[in-house]
Amino acid sequence: MTDLTVISAARATLPDTPFAARHLIDGVWCDSADGATFDRVSPSHGHVVTKAAKGGAKDVAHAIEAARLAFDAGTWSRSSGKDRAALLLKVADLIDRECERIAMMETLESGKPISQAKAEIEGAADLWRYAAALARTMHGESHNTLGDNMLGVVLKEPIGVVSIITPWNFPFLIVSQKLPFALAAGCTAVVKPSEMTPATTVILGELLVEAGLPAGVVNIVLGYGEPVGTAMTTDSRVDMVTFTGSTGVGKAIVKAAAATLKKVSLELGGKNPQVIFPDADLNSAVDAVVFGVYFNAGECCNSGSRILVHEDIAEDFIARTVALSRDVPFGDPLDPDTKVGAIITPQHQEKIDSYVKEAAKSGAQVRLGGAPLSVAGLDGQFYQPTVVADVTRDMPIAREEVFGPVLSVLTFSSLEEAISLVNDAEYGLSAGVWSENVHTCLEFALRAQAGTVWTNTWMDGYAELPFGGVKESGQGRELGRYGLDEFLEAKTVTMRIGRTRAPWVQPRTD
Ligand code: NDP
Repeated sequence: MTDLTVISAARATLPDTPFAARHLIDGVWCDSADGATFDRVSPSHGHVVTKAAKGGAKDVAHAIEAARLAFDAGTWSRSSGKDRAALLLKVADLIDRECERIAMMETLESGKPISQAKAEIEGAADLWRYAAALARTMHGESHNTLGDNMLGVVLKEPIGVVSIITPWNFPFLIVSQKLPFALAAGCTAVVKPSEMTPATTVILGELLVEAGLPAGVVNIVLGYGEPVGTAMTTDSRVDMVTFTGSTGVGKAIVKAAAATLKKVSLELGGKNPQVIFPDADLNSAVDAVVFGVYFNAGECCNSGSRILVHEDIAEDFIARTVALSRDVPFGDPLDPDTKVGAIITPQHQEKIDSYVKEAAKSGAQVRLGGAPLSVAGLDGQFYQPTVVADVTRDMPIAREEVFGPVLSVLTFSSLEEAISLVNDAEYGLSAGVWSENVHTCLEFALRAQAGTVWTNTWMDGYAELPFGGVKESGQGRELGRYGLDEFLEAKTVTMRIGRTRAPWVQPRTD
């Protein structure tokens, strides 16, 4: 363990008092009707960093009512694209202004490194700006080829009230992949962040109020999946649910929403492979593998948590990956040099560890790590960078989301075998290929079952490019024009010009 790069406690000052998080309902900040609250303990420092209102049935019902009334009143849903864009741009500027404060709370609640949190907040502001551009350029279509005197117009209308349920791994970024697009479309919303990371969504609510968003257009209810999340997926006044999180909860949401036939959009898990061919630029591939698995401590739907290496280069590639893993700075997330911070909860740390132990028992070789990491001066939970080789396709560590800094290594001997391993998965979020041969890359891109394929790169994302999964990784897309379309309904208007239609019935003349 001593040969790892570990960053001990930084001399950063933590806030004296916990962040006070309350619901935002119909433009008013409020406590829960029953006064209940819960605490969030920082996973890296062990202190209570947030005290939040714990929503109950009354609070969520009140928020849904407010969103419904706001939508039906039309102040936002029938406003011009120009006005919507102006507000979204204002929010983006306010996010930039508050970047340091938002990043600090994101780090304290989630345990992620402060430098990464800042980059995420900047990326989120960009999404608000991109959605503003979509608000002004959104349009339907017209059909003037339907025959004489006919005109068909397809309108794009906001779908209505949207429930937005987000997880703890990228709280501010994920709400920004959904909310500005919903607002650009003209929808109103009820938002529930994970109970582990409520603060940054509350700060976003403050910025929306400051920017002048009308009351009731965005409501925030804090608390747990039960009862808040379940009410948001069953209430008949809600038209759509957009969810990011585990596949298990995603399936439960589809069932819950079926009773009222709400539209459901899901961003779920992944077991994302990177495939390395012998002719690849191996220096870049090793770096991307290390980045892919340790970024956000592996608590990432896009984690490159399994690699498939050609058998001719496997031993060398594993040795290089292990060596570079030792250089990745793990430790205090408040130190600007740290690249990997804390694990979200002690229970989650145990789950990660049990995957590694189970794989070792089944014959896999733990080449690096495989145990908790102690960081001098800190009271939180951390896990060592971990590389597990000799993994076979049937092992849980090769098939399930570990959601930790744990890399599984499998080998292959041909393109055919690599593609079979890639597609032998319940998930289909993303996949990557490393080769200098364009034909290998293109064949891989065409045949890999995944929502995103990266060739000679990993985890690059842009507001312009849609993101989402196939198979059990989800349904629907976020970002790009597709991300806006999710929040729109098509309405067909068919118009006859003049009175030229031959009558269906001839009126009797007798
Ligand atoms: P969950 O999927 O359980 O939670 C995500 C969000 O859904 C939270 O806001 C949660 O509320 C809410 N929720 C929980 N149950 C319901 C329900 N029945 N109806 C509506 N909303 C609900 O993720 P966890 O945080 O528990 O993490 C568990 C595992 O999920 C992780 O170990 C990881 O494997 C995976 N995960 C995947 C993510 C991804 O990006 N693909 C993101 C996060 C987790 P609350 O937790 O506040 O009760």
